[in-house]
Amino acid sequence: MTARAVVIGGGIGGLASAVALARGGWDVTVLERATSLEPVGAGIAVAPNAVRALGALGLGDALRELSTLQGEVGMRRPDGRWLVRADTADAGARFGDQTLVLHRAQLVGMLADALPDGALRLGTSAAVVHAGDGGRPAVVRVSDAAGSPGGDVADAAGPAGGDVRDGAGPAGTDAPDAAASGEEVEADLVVAADGIDSPTRTRWWPDAPRPVHGGSTAWRLVAPARTDIVGGETWGRGIVVGIVPLADGRVYSYVSVADAAGVPESFDELRARLADWHAPIPELLASVDPAQTLRHALRCLPAPPATLATGRVALVGDAAHAMLPNVGQGGCQALEDAVVLGARVPASAARRSGGLDVASALQEWSAERRPRVEKVMKLSAQVAVPTRWTSPVLTGARDLGARAAGTWAASLGTRALDGVMGWRSPTPGGA
Ligand SMILES: Cc1cc2nc3c(=O)[nH]c(=O)nc-3n(C[C@H](O)[C@H](O)[C@H](O)COP(=O)(O)OP(=O)(O)OC[C@H]3O[C@@H](n4cnc5c(N)ncnc54)[C@H](O)[C@@H]3O)c2cc1C
Repeated sequence: MTARAVVIGGGIGGLASAVALARGGWDVTVLERATSLEPVGAGIAVAPNAVRALGALGLGDALRELSTLQGEVGMRRPDGRWLVRADTADAGARFGDQTLVLHRAQLVGMLADALPDGALRLGTSAAVVHAGDGGRPAVVRVSDAAGSPGGDVADAAGPAGGDVRDGAGPAGTDAPDAAASGEEVEADLVVAADGIDSPTRTRWWPDAPRPVHGGSTAWRLVAPARTDIVGGETWGRGIVVGIVPLADGRVYSYVSVADAAGVPESFDELRARLADWHAPIPELLASVDPAQTLRHALRCLPAPPATLATGRVALVGDAAHAMLPNVGQGGCQALEDAVVLGARVPASAARRSGGLDVASALQEWSAERRPRVEKVMKLSAQVAVPTRWTSPVLTGARDLGARAAGTWAASLGTRALDGVMGWRSPTPGGA
């Protein structure tokens, strides 16, 4: 009998989990309520740990074809003066692989292409009605999410998230969750990768920490190609601008503005605020259509739930451990979750002792993943703190500290990063 896995959510975490499980012998279905997988307007940094995770999914070559190395990066002041300059090859030597950057649509497309034929069902909303246990399968209610908007899939958030495409109003309110009606399907394993507002977490982990506001708002955009780009971040008072060249010459940029710095109401106001920052920041902001930018009030979970699995249901990605983006690890950790899940919960677990092994294999998976994601969440929250400082004294001391630290990595605390980026897949050659 084929072991059946249902994955709820077609973001990075859900797609990667489905690929990993299919490689481990599972018959997989991914249910995504949006009608399209195409995420708008943003790049994503794939850190060395996630480069290895994608390698374990058999996607290492595809990743390298689509992405670019960061090359020289650094940290600047708004007047353009460098505080720290470093070559990412050094970080690559330290962490075993270099950070690769690509457009989100390419990462999502690459994962979707690796799914077995027919595994992805778009426009389909799902809700777990029974979590299952050692003997009984889980039950998922599946319904049409007609009218569900596509679009901003990767960072889709609930109404509280304040996700808007600048100047275009709400980017898409969430479709209603699987209503009381709908087809019920049994599953030997359910992976809930349904994002920071996870309906599955809310229903089955009622005591889990709820999302909180992270104290900043971020804009993301992809600007037309240019050749004069040096990547890096520019840190002002409560404002950080990141610039990252993509493989095709386009430029991914993000801007975070702390609440304490006064969050601009519109993209035009943001442009005005950064008009005297160093080149090419004003030009990059001028070159994009505000309707194609993403704006998010940053949110995170204060901690992961006490366990990442209940019965036959596993929580993966932002549903389990949404973190602030300051270490660029949210998606990377989702990729790690997926690879470890594929390795620790093989389809053979569902065929033994009436399926008892799925529930216990999930608890082992959770015991392996939870301490790690909790550490990365804490590190991300720590690194975010100085980005929100607005006082001249604190930001002056911060900048001096960065200069003294001398290297980009040292300014973030190399030892902590070693632990994050040095992760090795349990299945380096594939699941
Ligand atoms: C500004 C910013 C910059 C970032 N930069 C980076 C970076 O450089 N590197 C990095 O690794 N990470 C980064 N991240 C984090 C990363 O984007 C997230 O961690 C990652 O996208 C989470 O993926 P996910 O699949 O867990 O969740 P999501 O992408 O939120 O996907 C959840 C999916 O579930 C679907 N869904 C929800 N409920 C249902 C339901 N009932 N039925 C069916 N489908 C459902 C949703 O439609 C959605 O498609 C950044 C985040 C932000 C905000």
